[in-house]
Amino acid sequence: MIIGVLALQGDTREHLHAVADCDAIGRPVRRPEELDSVDALIIPGGESTTMSKLAIEFGMLDPIRKRIAGGMPVYGSCAGMIMLARELLDARADQVPFGGIDMTVRRNAFGRQVDSFEGTVDIEDIDGGPFSAVFIRAPWVESVGDGVRVLGRVNDGPAAGRIVAVRQQHLLATAFHPELTGDLRVHRYFVEMAREAGQTTEG
Ligand code: GLN
Repeated sequence: MIIGVLALQGDTREHLHAVADCDAIGRPVRRPEELDSVDALIIPGGESTTMSKLAIEFGMLDPIRKRIAGGMPVYGSCAGMIMLARELLDARADQVPFGGIDMTVRRNAFGRQVDSFEGTVDIEDIDGGPFSAVFIRAPWVESVGDGVRVLGRVNDGPAAGRIVAVRQQHLLATAFHPELTGDLRVHRYFVEMAREAGQTTEG
């Protein structure tokens, strides 16, 4: 089971560490050949406009879209969530996400003045109490289609009730950064999703 971490831009290293701490093999992915050799992919936090541009430059847009359509498990955190959205709000018109999750995501949703915000989020499917969630110029999910499960909302503060964790089949996204807080539960959950998908395709 090899978990790739998209390495075009963003906090790739932190995700690779989190994957290793979950006893899985992590590998940076920058080129289409590297994508071919992974079973699942994490799209890190960072800056999604730049990530979109680099994805096109590195010839990764179509290969990633094809793997998503083919059922590869993908987890996106923050900018990674933006990249998995079908539709974006407050984005440049030429910003191209990979898509995959039937959701509309608002960039920098917590307010332009607030660079960073900490709150708590309970995630359905993940036991052990609420996450202490770090939001850094983070998006939130404005709306979801029928096939999308809302897994978590902000518990408290001015953004209470906003959707910040979702899953659509093999695709998972959070607006916060579990890779920065040392709480491995989201990564463990994703590694488990990837193992289950691997068993299905290998029969
Ligand atoms: N604001 C960033 C974007 O729009 C996301 C921030 C993050 O990933 N920490 O891409």
